Amino acid sequence: MKKVFSFAVALIISLAVFSQQSESVDTTVISKIREEAYQHSKVMNHAFYITDYSGPRLTWSAGYDRAAEWTLNEFKKWGLQNVHKEEWTPLGKSWDIVKSYVAIKSPYYQSIAATPKAWSGSTNGLVVADVMLASATDSADFVKKYKGKLKGKILIFESKLPPPSFSFKPDAKRFTEDSLSKLAVSTDPGDQLLFDTDTAAMNKKFAGLMQMFNTYFMSDKLWTFCNKEGAVAILSLGGGKDGTYATDGSYNFMPKPNSLNIANVGIRTEDFLRITRLLNHNVPVKMELDIKTSIKPQPAKGYNLVAEIPGTDPMLKNELVLVGGHFDSWHGATGATDNGAGSIVMMEVMRILKKLNLDMKRTIRIVLWGGEEQGLLGSLAYINKNVADYSTMKPLRDYDLISAYYNLDNGSGRIRGIHLQNNAALRPVFEQWLAPFKDLDAGTVSIKNSGYTDNESFDLVGIPAFQFIQDELNYDTRTHHTNADTYDELSEDDLKQASTIIASIVYNTANRKEKLLRKPKPNPYGNFNFYLLQ
Ligand SMILES: [Zn+2]
Repeated sequence: MKKVFSFAVALIISLAVFSQQSESVDTTVISKIREEAYQHSKVMNHAFYITDYSGPRLTWSAGYDRAAEWTLNEFKKWGLQNVHKEEWTPLGKSWDIVKSYVAIKSPYYQSIAATPKAWSGSTNGLVVADVMLASATDSADFVKKYKGKLKGKILIFESKLPPPSFSFKPDAKRFTEDSLSKLAVSTDPGDQLLFDTDTAAMNKKFAGLMQMFNTYFMSDKLWTFCNKEGAVAILSLGGGKDGTYATDGSYNFMPKPNSLNIANVGIRTEDFLRITRLLNHNVPVKMELDIKTSIKPQPAKGYNLVAEIPGTDPMLKNELVLVGGHFDSWHGATGATDNGAGSIVMMEVMRILKKLNLDMKRTIRIVLWGGEEQGLLGSLAYINKNVADYSTMKPLRDYDLISAYYNLDNGSGRIRGIHLQNNAALRPVFEQWLAPFKDLDAGTVSIKNSGYTDNESFDLVGIPAFQFIQDELNYDTRTHHTNADTYDELSEDDLKQASTIIASIVYNTANRKEKLLRKPKPNPYGNFNFYLLQ
């Protein structure tokens, strides 16, 4: 009886193994990748040059150009092929901060941390002015209440948000084994995030997105009104707490005739509330500002960075494995974790694969995107031009050639596994590919959708496009879009670990017999208006 039972168990096990394709995993290659990634790592060198050396990488800015130039040069030095910039539209404003000084002048002197919002205008040199507390239900109400009353004033808008409170949780965290196990067994992919492959749902989401942008555009109208009325500057609530504040933009990035940009400065929540409290106690506040920003007269083209390692198989070398992440950042720090980290890791993946001179059948292409922070501009434009037309779903040059796109954009934390983007058929593939990395804590495969970034642009046309499960560290609590997003927030060991795992997965994808199985092709988006692509 015992023997029969063992035989039956053995039969079931072997049937189970045969029922799914067994993926070949070359452990010698993986050892070489690990050795190169850990013993000869260049991640902190890439990090230095695209953060400290280049400065912030706001789309269309001088810092983006500096970092791009260094990166393309490195690609060439490593021997990558087809290294180039790929331009996209819409045109934007090439904007930079030339000078930024903000201080409270009275009731006492104190300089404060502040960053002009992206695409903010300038003050008329060094100005001292009274701060005025404004409160309105909407822009129409604001215009009615304040017409004729803004001349010479610095404006601060009463905040409706609750003040920051203490947190008793640590700023940085990693996944626990328990939370990873829950992710692994969950059968709910969750919603698609920014966009949606279902046309009706997509249009609904797009309406929401347009509303958000309209709000910003309305703000621009409001700022133009303030400027015409002779106000000196706007003080904006930066959000964040414990010293950090968001340094994003006014979204007034598209060249528009006659748009008048007032100086618009983001400050820490604590200073914003202090000034508000003083004014509410009838203590007059004077401030001193000197804000100078520059906008190049010509509208600027954005661009992505592209480079390749050509495939070696005569039949398969036209096929592609894509890796990438967005290269642009906000401008209040140096965008080290958003998305320096993703760019650094994907650069390192290319360096490792090229350095080891591995035999890879398919071509590996890296694309580092611009314009992600302004609405995935670089990746949407790339796909609409090279992969598939969003409105008709007509396949373009690369549509049939891409096996997969791997994206990294959730900070500097190590990889704990991969999100399947609701493509359940690929679970056994990634489980086998991640099996050698149990000791690096990276074995989890989750069905979830991950997005709000460039993998969604590919997912929309049905290309397998993934983000990894990453330890969050202090991304959401401290660095994401803030003045604290600097080199020192990068975790070197985590970046090495991520480079090891992605390089191995890319190698496997390049040499797999078949391309990765796709989800059903989405319907054309028809008249869906990707307004930014026009
Ligand atoms: Zn990002």
